[in-house]
Amino acid sequence: MELEFLRWLRGRLPPHPQLRVPPGDDAAVLAHTPGSDCVITSDLLMDGVHFELAECGPRAAGYKSLAVNLSDLAAMAARPVAAIVSIALPQADAQKLAVELYEGLLPLADRFGVTIAGGDTNCWDGPLVINIAALGETTEHGPLLRSGARPGDQILVTGELGGSILGKHLHFAPRVEEALLLNSRYRLHAGMDISDGLSLDLSRLAAESRCGAVIELAAVPVSPAAQQLAGSGADERSAWEHALADGEDFELLLAAPPEEAERIVREQPLSIPLTRIGEFVAEAGLWRVDERGRREPLPPRGYEHGAAG
Ligand SMILES: [Mg+2]
Repeated sequence: MELEFLRWLRGRLPPHPQLRVPPGDDAAVLAHTPGSDCVITSDLLMDGVHFELAECGPRAAGYKSLAVNLSDLAAMAARPVAAIVSIALPQADAQKLAVELYEGLLPLADRFGVTIAGGDTNCWDGPLVINIAALGETTEHGPLLRSGARPGDQILVTGELGGSILGKHLHFAPRVEEALLLNSRYRLHAGMDISDGLSLDLSRLAAESRCGAVIELAAVPVSPAAQQLAGSGADERSAWEHALADGEDFELLLAAPPEEAERIVREQPLSIPLTRIGEFVAEAGLWRVDERGRREPLPPRGYEHGAAG
């Protein structure tokens, strides 16, 4: 299957201005933009863990595998350039599966100017496993790190949160253009993408910045999906709890100084909402404050990537 598949794939990959030597040689050669730094990220997605292949199909699995990487580049305010795609395919219908997987991820790669610079495709007696490494470049505004938030900075989020399991976790739009625009137009101190749940990811950003964070519960933009989940009686959790702890929102979480945050919220420069949900404080830890100003500790909850067994 390999030669036939590779022939198909090479015919399917469009040229890219930075791809000097395309797949086909022992390694690809990418042109480097002078003055930029290379930003690299990688994600490993497994059938049964990060998607259910029998339910979502290979196109959605392929889309998601690239989208999670692009979300991490967005989190760094990096411009995407290339991706390396390595796949372990189950033996049955391997080639059909590989083609459909690529048909899911190629339009996304195209949309964000990402060239598929290489990878590997193997078969085995196990489930589908996809590893994608994505390469990006910093812009003249530098990378956006988790470590730059300071006490007094305001906490901002893009979009709406919670309930992604109802569909968004497979079809989300990585916030690449949004991050690049915000990083070029405003003075941001820190940022990351919300992949494992708002409260857990915010606690990580605060810890990297050696400060704490207070979330104003009423300000959190709760998604209709979170409300739907809470109303369905599937579990005891409220829509707010879903918004605070559900994984795979892939929205941006940002820290900006107060006057800058106020300007961002007032100007609303994106096609999706930008919401101020609280502020960073000097004391380490995470708190929630309700409408009456009562502050209590908020245990960070979300998706923990634990070892099996
Ligand atoms: Mg991330």
